[in-house]
Amino acid sequence: MSTPNRMTVGERTDSNFTTWSAAELAEKIHSREISSAEVTRAHLDRIAEANGSINAFLHVSSDEAMAAATAVDEALASGDEPTSPLAGVPLALKDVFTTTDAPTTCGSKILEGYRSPYDATVTLKLRAAGIPILGKTNMDEFAMGSSTENSAYGPTRNPWDLQRTPGGSGGGSSAALASGMAPLAIGTDTGGSIRQPAALTNTVGVKPTYGTISRYGLVACASSLDQGGPTARTVLDTALLHEVIAGHDANDSTSSTRPVAPVVEAARQGASGDLSGVKVGIVKQFERPEALQPGVLELHRRNLEQLESQGAELVEVDCPNFDHAVKAYYLILPSEVSSNLARFDGMRYGQRKGDDGTRSADEVMSLSRSEGFGPEVKRRIMMGTYALSVGYYDAYYLQAQRVRNLIAQDYAKAFETVDVIAAPVTPTTAFGLGEKVGDPLSMYLFDLFTLPLNLAGVCGMSVPAGLADDTQLPAGLQLMGPAHGDDRLYRLGAAFEAGRG
Ligand code: GLN
Repeated sequence: MSTPNRMTVGERTDSNFTTWSAAELAEKIHSREISSAEVTRAHLDRIAEANGSINAFLHVSSDEAMAAATAVDEALASGDEPTSPLAGVPLALKDVFTTTDAPTTCGSKILEGYRSPYDATVTLKLRAAGIPILGKTNMDEFAMGSSTENSAYGPTRNPWDLQRTPGGSGGGSSAALASGMAPLAIGTDTGGSIRQPAALTNTVGVKPTYGTISRYGLVACASSLDQGGPTARTVLDTALLHEVIAGHDANDSTSSTRPVAPVVEAARQGASGDLSGVKVGIVKQFERPEALQPGVLELHRRNLEQLESQGAELVEVDCPNFDHAVKAYYLILPSEVSSNLARFDGMRYGQRKGDDGTRSADEVMSLSRSEGFGPEVKRRIMMGTYALSVGYYDAYYLQAQRVRNLIAQDYAKAFETVDVIAAPVTPTTAFGLGEKVGDPLSMYLFDLFTLPLNLAGVCGMSVPAGLADDTQLPAGLQLMGPAHGDDRLYRLGAAFEAGRG
């Protein structure tokens, strides 16, 4: 029997829990019409069926997930209130958050089989919320990439077309959602790694305001940019997960002390579809028809028309420094990477190579790193080390930091006149496996529309916008909001979702 080329989640049916939304599953689990154990089992069965073709999960935690599900069912049976609005609904966790009961590899050979002695704050919050963790999802090595092909454990395939990538770096989480292997997933977005795969797989992904989600136990890529975030198949499900994982954490020095934005309430409000009085910014510098696939451009125009038809007012905003975002990001990120990844020396974490008594510590470190890291990680470490070295620091790193400030000012100015900004997420729909991986520059340019937001620390969402006419593959609508204005994304995202029907 030949394998199908598409493995997306089917139409919703009463008998198949893998087609339900998380909100719907939670409601029925909490009223005890169905059990968390049967829901979790259904998703584990789907993983067993589909993961061989898609490679979304690097590790499946069947026993642990079933134990967590059974604990929720027992607590509910004994009359306890659910510990969170998502208690009992299973989830896929990007393999960059530490877990004591499963390996944490970050898609790297250097961390093969590594067990963390502690749980990330996000992991602890999921456990406390009664959310069974199905397993750890595939990613570009240390979250560097836009296709999940930089994983040391093989690429993840896009459920919409198995010959194409799901985007990256969080392709595993998004592919798990799109194929019905999980109703909820967690990603990280340092430069687009939640929004971009969400767009290419027809799912919802949010990069919350920097500081909203604790980075404690999130293995660092670029600390000033890294941010965990929720992803799911509906805006409301994403909002419910956002509220579970957000909040101040004393273990993360950049964690915000502000109250979490009321995103669930905003998503419920947005469901009315009414956008009257909402001002939506269109960034002049993003008007790049030549950079967009015709079908994606056409879809984006229709998205804007739809927002208008729902009552939104479109306003052009000028963000001149966005033109330099790709260059600034690809200096700042490698600089931080070169420093953060120095800890993987074969001595303290993960794989050690060549320690046979004949080599010096230096030689063992060098061998462990050269065998443990893949080509893209090495490229970034070298670029970053160069950008930070004496004589080049001012010209590269410092200059990039200046650009970063100017981009933040562009956003601040834009948000004086508009409530949110709307933009494409990706220049094209999903590209083929192997198409860009040998050409780093074209891979970096694929991040054109997602990077400015990370540099400024503001928030963004990718919401499904349907299929592009020319490829019949999904693309997303990107919404960007000001720092701590995450609720605006959810209100607008839910309204757009409702408007599309
Ligand atoms: N494409 C971006 C990069 O390669 C994605 C980074 C991220 O968000 N983790 O750096």
